Amino acid sequence: MRSSRLVPPGGRLPWAMCLALAVYLGELALPVNMSNPVLELSLSLLVYWLPTWVCWAAVLRVGHRRWEVWLGAGAVTANAAGNTYYTGMTAAGASLSFPSLADVGFLTFYPLMLATLALAVRHHSRGLASSAWLDGAVGSLGAASVLAVLLSPVLAGALSRAPLVASLVALTYALFDLLLVSFVTGISALRGVRGGDRWALLVSGLIIFSVADVVFALQLQANTYAIGTFLDAGWPIGLALIALYVEGAARADRSTPQVKSPTTGATVLSVSVASTAAGLGVLLVSSRTHLSTLAVALAGVTLVASTARTQVGLRQMARMADLRRQDAITDDLTGLPNRRALYAEARVRLVEPQRHALLMLDLDRFKDVNDSLGHHVGDDLLVQVGARLGEHLRVGDLLVRLGGDEFAVLVEGAGRQEAADVAVKLRAAFTQHFNLDEVAVHSGASIGIALYPEHGPDLSVLLRKADVAMFKAKASGSGHHVYGGADDAEFALRLRTVEELRQALSSGQLVVHYQPKVELRTGEVHDVEALVRWEHPTRGLLYPDGFLDLIEQAGLMRDMTRVVLAIALDQAAAWSTDGRGLTIAVNLSASSLVDSDLPDEIAAMLATRNLPPGSLRLEITEEFLMADRDRARSILTRLRRHDIEISVDDFGTGYSSLAYLRDLPVDELKLDRSFVLPMIDDPRAAALVASTIALAHSLDLRMVAEGVENEVAYDELTRLGCDQAQGYFVSRPVPAAELEHWLNARRAAGKVADPSWLLGSAALD
Ligand code: C2E
Ligand code: CA
Ligand code: CA
Repeated sequence: MRSSRLVPPGGRLPWAMCLALAVYLGELALPVNMSNPVLELSLSLLVYWLPTWVCWAAVLRVGHRRWEVWLGAGAVTANAAGNTYYTGMTAAGASLSFPSLADVGFLTFYPLMLATLALAVRHHSRGLASSAWLDGAVGSLGAASVLAVLLSPVLAGALSRAPLVASLVALTYALFDLLLVSFVTGISALRGVRGGDRWALLVSGLIIFSVADVVFALQLQANTYAIGTFLDAGWPIGLALIALYVEGAARADRSTPQVKSPTTGATVLSVSVASTAAGLGVLLVSSRTHLSTLAVALAGVTLVASTARTQVGLRQMARMADLRRQDAITDDLTGLPNRRALYAEARVRLVEPQRHALLMLDLDRFKDVNDSLGHHVGDDLLVQVGARLGEHLRVGDLLVRLGGDEFAVLVEGAGRQEAADVAVKLRAAFTQHFNLDEVAVHSGASIGIALYPEHGPDLSVLLRKADVAMFKAKASGSGHHVYGGADDAEFALRLRTVEELRQALSSGQLVVHYQPKVELRTGEVHDVEALVRWEHPTRGLLYPDGFLDLIEQAGLMRDMTRVVLAIALDQAAAWSTDGRGLTIAVNLSASSLVDSDLPDEIAAMLATRNLPPGSLRLEITEEFLMADRDRARSILTRLRRHDIEISVDDFGTGYSSLAYLRDLPVDELKLDRSFVLPMIDDPRAAALVASTIALAHSLDLRMVAEGVENEVAYDELTRLGCDQAQGYFVSRPVPAAELEHWLNARRAAGKVADPSWLLGSAALD
């Protein structure tokens, strides 16, 4: 909130008011014989009327919009008027009766001021918690009970006054003071109200004013009051501060002040503790000396209210402690219990001879969703999965999120068969797609199962075994798998393979094979796709299916992409020197595209090899393009700037929306082989291919058919106007030297447009 300034730029009125106050104080400090009665009189008029002036200037500024400002101005004016009458009459030597006209002015001050206060509190405390209000009430009562004791002689004196009207007026003064002080104390106790400097002006002004009032009443009662002491300055100082508040309130905007949440912890009870002490103190005093009934009654009510407040406070603290405990065992994202909760529960539940099954569930291809659709979509998927899994469990089964895309279920009383049944049920929860960010995503899960007490004596062993079983389930694609002794060896192999892969990347064991794409119209070959292989020292040539997942899981994709790019671009440079002019297409996984350095690195790799523009094309899957459209556009645009073409791989297998094709810089679509294979004996599949080709052409994109395995498909695609074909019918992916040989032979035969030639010489991989 904007803190209000005390003095407006160029507004001299408040300064004049402060100056007059200072002179007045100086005058009061002078010994009586040195002071000048005329100066004194005019000064005392000035210090009362300057605040009034400040207030009305503020009222004029805001018009009728602010009741708070009006009422404050009214209160200050009433007091000044009362004082003027009083000082005037005394100066003129008239003796004033009690009550006099001056009291009308003085007394009017209080209701107007209380109303100002009420409006100010209402404005500054929007959204305040009810416990804070309770604190305010308890604080007010505590202050009132103490003040009632202080004012006891005044109250008694007022009652004994005659005539009745004098007694009533004296009583009204005392009660108004009581009300004002307790109200102000209550406001100060309202934790959470932030009114800024302005607020402090009002509160301190009222405190000074009421202290002056109370001291005056006490002195009057004891007959010790003398005019012309510093006490007289109490009221004008109070009024000046109130005037500054009114002036600031007129200036400040009406935005609702922020209310901070009530303090937590032990400070919660500070107000009620102080008030309890006050109430008890009053009662203690009343047991020794006589106190007014009002004081005793107020002390009693204070004690009741502060006890109630303490109860509320303690309950609040207990609830907070409980929430904190809950928080520690709850997963923030899904709201499910977390790993810590599982450990706590397992300590209680895993007791022989009771049987239990621990199911560990891991989402298939979650990383792809995260990488390609973005983290918020990944999070959304996890939340939906958590909710769905919960629907498929019995009461007593404990479902937790272990972290990442891993969930675990502890099933009571389950053996091998029951656990497998639960696994089937849980996997069935994935048959329906998930709606994420307006995209329908199919997800699956693999489940590893470990049994208690058969596979381990405690949770940490069971978790390890379930993890091993889950890996097996994933690797075999079986969905779920119950841990078996032999699984450990397989798991160890996997770990070893990851290690070998790391070495393979740095020791040149990765090689690249090339598969040509034929121009269907002319039979020429201008493009090849680079496909990675692993020449394993003992296991022979391995295909991507056998190691890409591991590369991805081990976080080695970034390195692999750079190795493949380097090999492929070296080859492109060699072919370019030979005058072959082939464009090489390299596959990029969605995870490589997350890497924002990639476009610049690729540009640098092209530059160092001096490759002509158009030598490199990148094949990217639909998922990535769909995911974060803005990021995809920015990355693709950066790549395009370096003359790198973009091809959409496995087209048709991803999401249904094609809108992305319109606004992303894409050059080519590669129709997935699952559309091409069935087209020869399924007219509907053929129609689908035909319309996809038409779609590509209407968007000015090149269409490439993948997985062309026979002549019928090749001819059909030619007839449908497809641009290029890639597949075993043309050639398998082969090493560079073999591809060169194949290209040479083709050129020599001169029958590049005749598919019958292809049939006989298809290179074998
Ligand atoms: P892809 O990009 O769809 O590549 C085409 C795959 O289809 C290749 O499998 C290729 O050998 C195979 N193929 C070609 N013609 C035919 C055919 O007529 N019939 C059948 N059934 N298959 C055919 P490959 O080489 O095993 O690669 C599999 C996948 O691995 C690729 O699918 C690609 O997604 C990925 N991949 C390959 N190399 C790389 C790479 O360097 N980086 C990345 N990130 N992924 C790669
Ligand atoms: Ca590809
Ligand atoms: Ca493909």
